[in-house]
Amino acid sequence: MASVIGEVGEAFAALVKGFGVTLRTMFRKTTTERFPEVAPTVQPRYRGIHVLQRDENGLEKCVACFLCSAACPANCIFIEAAENTEAQRISAGERYAKTYNIDYSRCIFCGYCVEACPTDAITHGHSIELAPYDINAMIYRKDQLLEIWPPRNPRP
Ligand code: SF4
Ligand code: SF4
Repeated sequence: MASVIGEVGEAFAALVKGFGVTLRTMFRKTTTERFPEVAPTVQPRYRGIHVLQRDENGLEKCVACFLCSAACPANCIFIEAAENTEAQRISAGERYAKTYNIDYSRCIFCGYCVEACPTDAITHGHSIELAPYDINAMIYRKDQLLEIWPPRNPRP
């Protein structure tokens, strides 16, 4: 008999505890994000979709050294290099990346590519919108990654 009373008491205590959580949560401020209507706020060091940076003259910072792709543990960076000419200068170095693709179906956002880059040409941006219906759309091309020029927000 004593054990039955004990079990009923335990069940009652669990119910009170559970409803206590429900009641407390009901009156808390909601944390629902209204994405995509409202863009979420991310931390300054958030590793989002990469950005291929330009220098102060608008030239591409990437000099096609392949260090980022060598450092990538997911093997998801594909680069094709080409030579700059006097008639057509794309970067400040000898070479530039004619093709620069990142396959976001493989990228693990580890940041190794960013650390490996000697010219700070590749950085993480803050964009999080990576949910296409077609897997092929996960491969981002250079024109999708390249910093918009002139910049929308003038540099400090
Ligand atoms: S963040 Fe990591 S996995 Fe993604 S491209 Fe860079 S090195 Fe590769
Ligand atoms: S992004 Fe940086 S590391 Fe990668 S190829 Fe260009 S210059 Fe080299």
